[in-house]
Amino acid sequence: MALLVQKYGGTSMGSVERIDHVASKVAAARERGHRIVVVVSAMSGETDRLIKLAKSINPRPNPRELDQMIATGEQVTIALLALALEKRGVAARSYTGAQVAIRTDQAYNKARIRHIDTERLLADCEAGTVPVVAGFQGVDEAGNITTLGRGGSDTTGVALAAALKADECQIYTDVDGVYTTDPRVEPKARRLDRVTFEEMLELASLGSKVLQIRSVEFAGKYKVPLRVLSTFQEGPGTLITLEESKMEDPLISGIAFNRDESQLTVSGVPDRPGIAAAILGPIGDANIEVDMIVQNVGADGTTDFTFTVHRNDHDRAVEISRKVATDLHAKGVRTAQDIAKVSLVGVGMRSHAGIAAKMFKVLAAEGINIRMISTSEIKISVVIEDKYLELAVRALHQAFDLAEAPGH
Ligand code: ADP
Ligand code: ASP
Ligand code: MG
Repeated sequence: MALLVQKYGGTSMGSVERIDHVASKVAAARERGHRIVVVVSAMSGETDRLIKLAKSINPRPNPRELDQMIATGEQVTIALLALALEKRGVAARSYTGAQVAIRTDQAYNKARIRHIDTERLLADCEAGTVPVVAGFQGVDEAGNITTLGRGGSDTTGVALAAALKADECQIYTDVDGVYTTDPRVEPKARRLDRVTFEEMLELASLGSKVLQIRSVEFAGKYKVPLRVLSTFQEGPGTLITLEESKMEDPLISGIAFNRDESQLTVSGVPDRPGIAAAILGPIGDANIEVDMIVQNVGADGTTDFTFTVHRNDHDRAVEISRKVATDLHAKGVRTAQDIAKVSLVGVGMRSHAGIAAKMFKVLAAEGINIRMISTSEIKISVVIEDKYLELAVRALHQAFDLAEAPGH
């Protein structure tokens, strides 16, 4: 008799009918003899609505009060699902993060889980009751409600599976697995039977929001068997595996993208040691994360220094860079917000040269200019103009045969 943690996302919990459908799935899994712990998200759109509501009364809401409020979305769906299960004759009990307790640090809006008390959940399972746990939320030492960052219910699911030593963590969503790229952008995208943790981590951190990055980190660290499946369609889904890469690994497993970054260039900075530190030091001090960085070889004693930050941090980053530019006697600061990042990910890249060159050729053939490039062992990312994003994704998907390649 397996112990399964099943996490149902916002679309799956999006209406009373859908919640009823989720209840039928949970009931069926129990019929098959499994012990089930359920984690749920708020109804789709609800977290956005709550954030908007908070901002409508105060454009810069206090993070504690924001968490207090946005955690309510999941409090509604746990109770609704418990009611739907009971209607079907399945004993169920709903729990908020604090009731479990899911203990986190104090970082409101992006808290990290430190410990989960499992006694109550295990006692419920023992008694044949299905615990329904609110995703996305926890409680800090002082009893304040915290949330885990957008998409955080995935992390609740994986963390619970780790704490309960579950046989599998099943992430039920509105697609039937992890695809070669977002099927909303490329309808020819293909479902992957398996993908390695390493690749999934890159895909998630480069923009594929099907799993929150932290959930993948957590699953890798605690070796939680993780599977992504559809709530609405039967099928094997995608298994995230620990397997080492093999010779037959495909070169490219997937294409990720995001539109969340903006680009800043400090131009005409003196080309001497310490410049990168002088520019990025104050940016880091302001808690702004820098993603890509390019510094050119200088001509005539000056150079341009370009980097990207999350779009939410754009205004503050510009403010800081302008000040630094003045101190350094640089020419000025240019910015671009209409950019997108497209990335190829695949463990097979390790043993193959020429992938970057092929990527650049494909983009050139479409007339797409590359503004920045960064590479690691298993990924290549380029920054391009936002308006070419879809075109780039589809052209690369085709050029690297992602639609036809046999499963791995
Ligand atoms: P949930 O509400 O269930 O958590 P999300 O919206 O967070 O669902 O994640 C599922 C969505 O992720 C899909 O609808 C799809 O548009 C998007 N997505 C992005 N990249 C991928 C990918 N490579 N494979 C599958 N889905 C992806
Ligand atoms: N409801 C939260 C969000 O929309 C958490 C989640 O759905 O995973 O981000
Ligand atoms: Mg999600």
